[in-house]
Amino acid sequence: MQRPIERDPARANRGEIIDDIGRRINYARISVTDRCNYRCSYCMPEDGVSGLRHDEIMRYEDITFLCRVLEGLGVRKFRFTGGEPLVRKGMITFLRGFRRDFPNAALALTTNASLLGKYSADLAGIGLASLNISLDTLNPEKFRRITRVGDLRDVVAGVGAARAAGVPTIKTNTVLIRGFNDDELPAILSFAWDNGFMPRIIEFMPLDGALWREDKFISAREVLGASPFYEPWRPTAPEGTGEVPSGPAAYYIDNRNRVVGIIDAVSKHFCASCNRLRVSASGCLRACLFGAADVRLLDMLRERDEVLLREAVLTGMMTKPEHWDVSSFGAGNMSGIGG
Ligand code: SAM
Ligand code: SF4
Repeated sequence: MQRPIERDPARANRGEIIDDIGRRINYARISVTDRCNYRCSYCMPEDGVSGLRHDEIMRYEDITFLCRVLEGLGVRKFRFTGGEPLVRKGMITFLRGFRRDFPNAALALTTNASLLGKYSADLAGIGLASLNISLDTLNPEKFRRITRVGDLRDVVAGVGAARAAGVPTIKTNTVLIRGFNDDELPAILSFAWDNGFMPRIIEFMPLDGALWREDKFISAREVLGASPFYEPWRPTAPEGTGEVPSGPAAYYIDNRNRVVGIIDAVSKHFCASCNRLRVSASGCLRACLFGAADVRLLDMLRERDEVLLREAVLTGMMTKPEHWDVSSFGAGNMSGIGG
């Protein structure tokens, strides 16, 4: 449901983004590239995305300026994503600079892990607080099938390197696909727990109508509830830290103190507690993952126009729907939006 834009310039002076139903937005997910070295079949077409030209994506200096303005508006956590963020040249240097420029912000990265063998030590040294890693299967043949080009050995070596390097929080993200990996959940969860990672199960979201099929969808709770492998689950605070829930994941703990996160964006809305905004690699603000209305920020970023940028962000965030509905489906693919 898209509501009319309500503009309230006073918000800009309050130094925070609070939308018109009172949600405080303090978490930004920024895509640094639309490109990827994989072609996951639930995320992009087989021949990949068309690929933005260099002048169509945010430069690192643009991203730093964006972060500065967002920090001024109360954003405290920044996650960099893609496409695959580690394929962008200069990413480690950028993250090092980010850490220096924003010492108090939480810094996180989402990656397919294929390049972590190369970059984990750098990432840990930079002080990355958290790393989210895609892990949809532990079967090499299925892995190749879902990613179309990937080699599971790179990912297993990559997650091992991240663990050895000492990145404090590592989460695995598994997109649940009926008939593909719903039977593999016990193995994937055990792999995560045994390695000290936090497993999260993500429902297959219908972002790109051409890639999503209803018969491939299975609700996370259905899988979790049905398997004899699992103990009874009790709700718990995010990551057992006592934090107030603010993200899409609901966390559950079993009698053996094993925790799993469920991102059931499709079967159960988490919109009421959503605290995030997204910016695509092309510099477009998206108030809601499922919302179609993007606000183009690139020119303001290039011109370093802080006043206009603040206003565009504040105004754009007023279009955040109270919750998404079925008419929002097909709002683009994840590699373009940034996951
Ligand atoms: N390349 C990185 C990766 O794979 O982690 C970062 C970008 S990827 C778009 C971010 C997250 O979005 C991944 O965890 C991926 O599994 C998830 N994703 C992509 N398409 C999805 C879909 N249709 N439904 C649910 N999750 C999806
Ligand atoms: Fe690439 Fe990540 Fe999309 Fe897979 S999910 S194609 S790794 S961006």
